[in-house]
Amino acid sequence: MSKLSIEDVDVAGRRVLTRVDFNVPLDDGGRITDDRRIRAALPTIQSIIRRRGKVVLMSHLGRPAENGYEAEYSLKPAAAALSQMLGQPVAFPSQDCVDAAAAAAVESLGEGQVLLLENLRFHAGETENDAEFAARLARYGQVYCNDAFGTAHRAHASIVAVPRSMGAAKRAAGLLLLAEVKYLSDILKNPQRPFVAVLGGAKVSDKLGAIKRLLDVVDDVLVGGAMAYTFLEVLGRRMGKSRVEHDRLDDAREIIELAAEKKADLFFPNDHVCGKEISDGTPIKVFEDHIEDGWIGLDIGPQTQHRYAERIGKARTIIWNGPMGVFEVGPFSVGTKAVADAMAAATRNGATTVIGGGDSAAAVEALGMDDAFSHVSTGGGASLRLLEGRNMPGLDALDDA
Ligand code: AMP
Repeated sequence: MSKLSIEDVDVAGRRVLTRVDFNVPLDDGGRITDDRRIRAALPTIQSIIRRRGKVVLMSHLGRPAENGYEAEYSLKPAAAALSQMLGQPVAFPSQDCVDAAAAAAVESLGEGQVLLLENLRFHAGETENDAEFAARLARYGQVYCNDAFGTAHRAHASIVAVPRSMGAAKRAAGLLLLAEVKYLSDILKNPQRPFVAVLGGAKVSDKLGAIKRLLDVVDDVLVGGAMAYTFLEVLGRRMGKSRVEHDRLDDAREIIELAAEKKADLFFPNDHVCGKEISDGTPIKVFEDHIEDGWIGLDIGPQTQHRYAERIGKARTIIWNGPMGVFEVGPFSVGTKAVADAMAAATRNGATTVIGGGDSAAAVEALGMDDAFSHVSTGGGASLRLLEGRNMPGLDALDDA
C-alpha cells in the first residue's frame, strides 16, 4: 500500500511536525563525522519551505540516559549543519523538546522557517511510546510528516503515538521515507532478473529473516563476512578461530536445506583471507576450503571475490547488506571493495543496485563510492526489516495515498 506523500499535502501556512533521523555520528569534539542522514532529509524540508509551510523538526541522537539533558547527545551540531546546508537560520530554542521555550518558539514560527527540537530521547517517553509525552509534541503540528526511515521500524512516541494523537491532521510520508520503501520493498515485488542478494556482516542471527525471505525472490544469494563461517561449519569445513555462531548451526542448516528446495542458489566463500588477530599488522594467510587452527577468517579470498563479482556482473538487480570482511581494517577491506566495485560497474551498465544501510553504507561511504549506486539506504535495521517483509510501525501510522 503506498503512503500519502508530503508533496500531496497543502502545507502553506501550516506547522508541519516532521520526524527526521538526524542520528549522526559525532567525534569527541562534538563535530559531525558523517552528515549523510541530514543531507538525505533536505528534499522533504526544502519541499515544505518552498510551499510556505513551517517546519518543526524532531529527532533522536544516540542513546542518552533518558532522564534529561546531556550535552554530548545534543542535536545542536545538527541544527548548525542543517542551517548551513539550507542557507537559512534553523531555530534551536531549548534544551528540552517540550518545555515552555520550545512551545513558544514553535508558536511564533513563520512561513518558510525551520526549527529543530532538542533530542527526543532526553525523555523516556520517546522510546516508551508514551501517550502523554506524544500529546505534548502533537500540539506543535497541524500536519504530521515522517521522513525518519532509519527509525521507522521502531514503535517510539514520535513515530507512532504522535501521529496517532494528531486528530484530523494529515499524516504523510517524507520523500526519503518514500524513496527507501520504493527501493527496498517494491524492488522485491517486481525485480529485473537475474536478481542477486549479497549478504555479509558479523552475525547470521541478525539476518536469518532476511535470508529466508530473499530465498523466495532472488536468483542468487552470495554470502560473505563472518556469517559465512557458521554455514561453512555446518557444511563440514574447519573454520579455525573464525567467528562461528555455535548456537545458530541449526538455523544455518535449515537455510541450506530451504535453499535446496527453492530456485535460489546459495553461494559461500571457497577461500578466505585470514589473520592471527584483527589488526593491520597481523600476519596474513589465504586458505582454501579449511582454515588452519589458530587463524581467523577475516575477509573473502581472491577466488571468491572473482566468483562473486562475476555473478554481480550478470545481474540486473542487486541488493547488498553487510560487509564481506572486517572492512574497517585495511588488509581485510579488499573483499568488500571488490563487491562495491562490481556493483558500481553493474550500475553503470544499467542494473538497479541497492546498498542496505548500516555497515555496508558506511563501507561505500569510506570508499568514497556513495554516488556509484542506484540507492544507498540510510537505515540498517529498518532496511533489513523491509527485506524481511515485516511491517513497519512508522509506515502503518501514516495515511494511505
Ligand atoms: P553487521 O552489523 O552484522 O552488518 O556486521 C558488520 C561488522 O561485521 C563489521 O564491523 C565487520 O567488521 C564485521 N565482520 C565482517 N566480517 C567479519 C569477519 N570475518 N570476522 C569478524 N567480523 C567481521
